[in-house]
Amino acid sequence: MLVLGVESSCDETGIALYDTEHGLLSHTLHSQVEMHAEYGGVVPELASRDHIRRVLPLTELALKDANKTLQDIDAIAYTQGPGLSGALLVGTSFAESLAFSLQIPTINVHHLEGHLLAPLLEDNPPAFPFVALLVSGGHSQLMRVDGIGQYELLGDTLDDAAGEAFDKTAKLLGLGYPGGPALSNLAKTGKPRFKLPRPLLNSGDLNFSFSGLKTSVLTLVSQHQPLDAETKADIAYEFQEAVTEVLTTKCMSALRETRLDNLIVSGGVGANARLREKLNAATKRKLCKVSYPRLEFCTDNGAMIAFAGAMRLKAMQNNADKNYSFSVKPRWNLSELEAP
Ligand code: ATP
Ligand code: MG
Ligand code: FE
Repeated sequence: MLVLGVESSCDETGIALYDTEHGLLSHTLHSQVEMHAEYGGVVPELASRDHIRRVLPLTELALKDANKTLQDIDAIAYTQGPGLSGALLVGTSFAESLAFSLQIPTINVHHLEGHLLAPLLEDNPPAFPFVALLVSGGHSQLMRVDGIGQYELLGDTLDDAAGEAFDKTAKLLGLGYPGGPALSNLAKTGKPRFKLPRPLLNSGDLNFSFSGLKTSVLTLVSQHQPLDAETKADIAYEFQEAVTEVLTTKCMSALRETRLDNLIVSGGVGANARLREKLNAATKRKLCKVSYPRLEFCTDNGAMIAFAGAMRLKAMQNNADKNYSFSVKPRWNLSELEAP
């Protein structure tokens, strides 16, 4: 069965075609990052308007790349939430009306389920159950995953998400938006000179807290005015060491506590090379396996939505939704999801 995936929850329009027998056939993406950069963050109204401009051309391109036509599509999966309501409405209304015109079912996908399952798009995916670390711009969660829709929250951030901490720290260092990739690039040239705290490292639970780290960086920055290039790089280095050490330690605790030996990592921060290096070493030591999405599927994309939709469609047999009424869920907890 051929599933069209539509993602428009924030500042990326992503479209993909996933075939339940042949895998991912095509995916197209437009990132609005440059448009929002001059404002230092996502402007919701601009985001919605841009999704409207992109969604049709990207769909046509995805069909062309896969050598398929609209009539070949068996179902449409789209992000229903969480995200910006105006942005979500574009993908949702597009998906429901296209499905209505083709008289095919729709599958409403939870954006975080999309992120979470993205590593399974790669070769040799791990089998359920496993531990998942989801580290994106808005979330930092550890979960036990027993199957599609069977997610048990093991730990969560008490304040900022890991990606948000990268972005805010990058801003303090004058690195522009989005800061994660820029900060991690700068960290490559940094040296161990400062010492930042490792928040909640020994808290005995699987929760995170990253906002204090940002405050510590602010203190360092104000003590070293004017900031020279070397100091900036050294702060970036230490910040990245602190975040990746906490994330790695908690992942290993989650594997130990659940007695599982498979870890999957997803979300934008999952693209961080230093995090991957530490997780690879730590899991290897404990004879565990860790899986990641390819770099481009760490951040928002349509492929993960088409894939999550396809997994749900397979499990639902013929019960997929064909009523074409719709609503968006800007706030939506992953643990509220049910198995298909
Ligand atoms: P959510 O899915 O929680 O709503 P989001 O979709 O905005 O959030 P993603 O697209 O998964 O989040 O990830 C974007 C985040 O990942 C940004 O905060 C960005 O700075 C961060 N990020 C991307 N690449 C890297 C990297 N190499 N190192 C660290 N952080 C990174
Ligand atoms: Mg984004
Ligand atoms: Fe996302």
